[in-house]
Amino acid sequence: MGNRLLAVISIAIGLATGLPAYAAPYSGPLFDAHLHYNEEAWNGQTGPHPISDVLARMQRNGVRAVLANSRPNDGTRALAEAGAAQAGVTVVPFVRLYRNRADYDNWFRDDTIYQMVQAELARGTPAGPYRGLGEFHLYDSANANGPVARQLMALADSRGLAVLAHVDDVAIDLLMANTPSKGQQTRLIWAHTGIGGTPVARVDALMARYPLLMGELSYRPGLTCEGGLLCPEWRALLIKYPNRFVIGSDTWVNQRWQYYDELMQGYRTWLGGLPPEVARAIGWDNAAGWFGLK
Ligand SMILES: [Zn+2]
Repeated sequence: MGNRLLAVISIAIGLATGLPAYAAPYSGPLFDAHLHYNEEAWNGQTGPHPISDVLARMQRNGVRAVLANSRPNDGTRALAEAGAAQAGVTVVPFVRLYRNRADYDNWFRDDTIYQMVQAELARGTPAGPYRGLGEFHLYDSANANGPVARQLMALADSRGLAVLAHVDDVAIDLLMANTPSKGQQTRLIWAHTGIGGTPVARVDALMARYPLLMGELSYRPGLTCEGGLLCPEWRALLIKYPNRFVIGSDTWVNQRWQYYDELMQGYRTWLGGLPPEVARAIGWDNAAGWFGLK
């Protein structure tokens, strides 16, 4: 179906139902604020998604910057070098806490993880110093109080590092409580903004409580409704906090790389239904501003 025909039909449906008429997809730059370049994607550059492949996917989707992390961290370093040098994609590197799959369930109490993070921070990347820690997961929010979780949150706060955390709403409060500023100066990007379906009112309350909490919106249940546009309560929340949300691909398995185009097109669709300045903020400005990009 041609775009013009689609537009005419959409407007007709809008007139008939009182729903907003067809809005053009957001066409500005995108900042992918939740990207993994894990070993199975590149596998010594003989995997299904070598650097040339993933950079091409970013370029053709208007993704001009990525928050990158990987298991192990070699993927991020390789991407940082290639992205900065060749493709016009700015790589904002984060230290992943996992050397392997076993670390997912143990990092919060494993002192060797803390030592690995210190070594990575000292080493840095070809794109410059690491800017944050994560993504990390807490499947049981009580583990936010594990000794290494506490140490890493304090480290992030004291060094001005951001944190990318896949956790529930209870863990957000616990992690923030473990920082010297009690979360008032903690840059925490909440991966998925409550993947278990945290109610919007609770997300709203956390945004109000922690001024540097940022919500990343991949896999967020209940975000989009008909036509791939935002559901009303989410649209209202994003407009209430236009500077507090970002988008991301979460390429945690190779299948996500295969559907990278569709993921980014999906974001462009619902961003297009927002006021242009809000779409631009969520698509690019919020993450770019945090990390000092132009
Ligand atoms: Zn992830």
